[in-house]
Amino acid sequence: MRYSPESHLFAVERQSMVGRQLRSRGIGDERVLQAMLRVPRHQFVSESYQNQAYEDHPIPIAAEQTISQPYIVASMLQAVEVEENDKALEVGTGSGYVTALLAELAREVVSIERHELLAAGAMELLAKLGYSDVQVLNGDGSLGYEPAAPYDVIVVSAAACELPRVLISQLNEGGRMIIPIGPPDTQQLQLIKRESRGLHISLREPCRFVPLVSG
Ligand code: SAH
Repeated sequence: MRYSPESHLFAVERQSMVGRQLRSRGIGDERVLQAMLRVPRHQFVSESYQNQAYEDHPIPIAAEQTISQPYIVASMLQAVEVEENDKALEVGTGSGYVTALLAELAREVVSIERHELLAAGAMELLAKLGYSDVQVLNGDGSLGYEPAAPYDVIVVSAAACELPRVLISQLNEGGRMIIPIGPPDTQQLQLIKRESRGLHISLREPCRFVPLVSG
């Protein structure tokens, strides 16, 4: 990429985000940290929010949705332990930011977004940034995406009332899913591991996501 003072400034802000918001709060997975150093988060928000892109909070995007706070994104990605050869499914593409991070970490990425406008915007941006291998689909991700199942990793970026069984059924044995569960004020991230003996569920951080809309 050509040098420009602006992209240098954003790179400095990214360094600071990774140091102050992620490492200092216990995110230690180097692959996740390096991916977050690489992906230009400011490109995933509108121009009027670019100066806030690396701050410690969520940011509004189109269609009344939000791009999650960097720490929550890092914490979710660290929890699912993405490996190089993994196939990942994301539910709730939104801006495409998490999709780009998954593309840095996994071999194959499928992402589903119910808003046509957001899906189209994310697809265009991801291609422009060189993430041309990811598959962004417009549809209801609460049903997962059976044609490409099973997945090693599923990341759900919108909150469900209860664990969607159909998503669990699309996890590989050894697969991991991270999903926010609960009503707006009392959501919590849950990590689900599908093991040969059954499901292992652990409760993680409290959080606040837009709802997973079904149908
Ligand atoms: N990871 C995104 C976060 C977007 S917010 C980012 O980095 O920008 C969550 C997204 O989930 C919204 O765009 C919303 O439209 C989408 N969503 C909600 N319910 C959905 C469903 N059933 N299927 C697919 N996408 C859904």
